[in-house]
Amino acid sequence: MLGTVLFGLLLGFCVTMVANYCTTVYLHRGLTHAALRTKPWLGATFKTVLWVTTGMRERQWVAVHRKHHAFTDETDDPHSPARIGWLRVQLTNPALYRRVARDDKQVAKYTRDLPPTRADRVLFDHALLGLAVGVVLLVFAFGWQVAAIAFPFHVVLYLGLSGSVNSIAHTFGRRTYSTSATNVQWLALITAGEGLHNNHHGAPTSARLSINQREFDPAWLSIRAMAKLGWLTVRHDTPKFVVPRISPTKV
Ligand SMILES: [Zn+2]
Ligand SMILES: [Zn+2]
Repeated sequence: MLGTVLFGLLLGFCVTMVANYCTTVYLHRGLTHAALRTKPWLGATFKTVLWVTTGMRERQWVAVHRKHHAFTDETDDPHSPARIGWLRVQLTNPALYRRVARDDKQVAKYTRDLPPTRADRVLFDHALLGLAVGVVLLVFAFGWQVAAIAFPFHVVLYLGLSGSVNSIAHTFGRRTYSTSATNVQWLALITAGEGLHNNHHGAPTSARLSINQREFDPAWLSIRAMAKLGWLTVRHDTPKFVVPRISPTKV
């Protein structure tokens, strides 16, 4: 029994790491900021993995995140710790996300460059179907007992870590660029680089999130390898900063 529980937790953790990787490379650096462009087959692979692991409707995620960049810490920021406190963002991030994601007009406004495809309408926009496929795959591969532990653990962990990028990585950590976002290396290790959030707000179109010495962006190694293989192209080699650099500060 203990072995089943531990294996279920480990499997759930691995599913979250895969979902985090697809979120940062495809949804965030690719679709949202166009910092990289994948070959169609690779984009379809990321899209499918995200669909079965998170049920994410990608245009909704892109819209919420673009709005966050457009209004960081202003009234219209969907999730600003400076305005409502980091703990509230951490604990209620899914609800804050849904406020914008469920607003079709806002989603359309922020995703004019990403019109829904036929495949989106038929398949990928059906979140519960994607999640159901994911659960069935887990049950077939590992049995229902393991799946019953792995899947809920993955859902809680994925939502929690997504919330941490918006809460912890806008409150605690190091700042190199003049934005409220912070660099949190331990968080970056379990979010495929997303914890280096100050660097990201400083240079949103950079496909690499580690900029300073002693920072490690786990996803960057694979992005560079995929670029060498010709599976994707990186927009520019040197980050283009949209905010000034400041003396590094710890907060
Ligand atoms: Zn942010
Ligand atoms: Zn971003």
